[in-house]
Amino acid sequence: MAADYYALLKIRRDATQDEVKRAYRRLARELHPDVNPDPETQERFKEITQAYEVLSDTDKRRMYDMGVDPFAGARAGGPGASPFGQGYNPLNDLLDQFFGAAGGGAAARGPRSRAQRGRNATIRIELELAECSFGATRELTVDTAVVCPTCSGEGTAPGTHPQTCDICGGRGEVSQVTRSFIGQVMMARVCPGCGGYGTVLVRPCPECDGDGRVRTRRTIKVRIPAGVEDGTHIQLAGEGEVGPGGGPPGDLFLEIVQRPHAIFERQGDDLHCTVTIPMVAAALGATLSVESLDGPADIDIRPGTQSGQVLPLYGQGVKHLNGNGRGDLVIHVTVETPSKLDAEQEKLLRELAKLRGEEAPPGRFAPGQQGFFSRLRDAFNGR
Ligand SMILES: [Zn+2]
Ligand SMILES: [Zn+2]
Repeated sequence: MAADYYALLKIRRDATQDEVKRAYRRLARELHPDVNPDPETQERFKEITQAYEVLSDTDKRRMYDMGVDPFAGARAGGPGASPFGQGYNPLNDLLDQFFGAAGGGAAARGPRSRAQRGRNATIRIELELAECSFGATRELTVDTAVVCPTCSGEGTAPGTHPQTCDICGGRGEVSQVTRSFIGQVMMARVCPGCGGYGTVLVRPCPECDGDGRVRTRRTIKVRIPAGVEDGTHIQLAGEGEVGPGGGPPGDLFLEIVQRPHAIFERQGDDLHCTVTIPMVAAALGATLSVESLDGPADIDIRPGTQSGQVLPLYGQGVKHLNGNGRGDLVIHVTVETPSKLDAEQEKLLRELAKLRGEEAPPGRFAPGQQGFFSRLRDAFNGR
């Protein structure tokens, strides 16, 4: 018998199951790798876990008491200590002989990989309307994780490699026999020695502490296509952070935030704006210079233009995201009625009204009175 499990747990040979459990709990709290990461303590933790594995299970404990150590040959202390070589666990073999294929079935799942896919990340990018329309290039500084240069993601100190777990023999799980009313049932659970990985990092990499990746800041240049809008997500595959254990990187998402524009309101790929023109210009017609995304553009105000009229500039809106064509720039005209007239202006307007047969004594039409607005409108329409 290679190890005295009773001595390891510091209990008497006739200890009850309850005492076994309590003894293990007390020691595990002391020796847990999270509390005490030094290798010697971890080794002891493995030993007491192994002792508990056996003594907490009435069947294994009976075997052990009869002189069969389920762990003999797979003793903690390095895989070299196993006369059967790596990947071989005498306990599983023993149990397989006793219970047939059940153990093999459970092992089919195998150990889980240390390498996990990295997380996705999202970065918000604020763009001006013109940048949304025509596309933009940005240099982004991202805080991310990259593969550890010291261990190349393996997580072990230079010159060493992960070693096959002694407790599970690399299977990542341990078999446990429990007694139930239908008889003995074989159960597999995650190996407490390696956390299910099947390997242990005996000497973790000093740079990444076994994680296989290190945090860093890097700059990437991204091209944002023309036609994006507020809320557009752009996926940059594989530009996220590298996963634990040197796993594949996640994706980086750019979330577009479009800054409000002073003049234009965007609706889909169309732009809308309002221009105010003087009453006389609306009546006589004029050429007006308006802002567009492409610079100043001249629009013709035809004589007799009404307030609320819409003038579209086709193809002057935002580029479509699919790369074909553009939306329109839609100009909404507001006609401004002069609110302050000096004596001469008032006289001229009265003369005009007289010429058009629209003369009315002041105060005759109260605002809101039937016919007032339609007559005023007709007055400037030449009707
Ligand atoms: Zn490393
Ligand atoms: Zn293990």
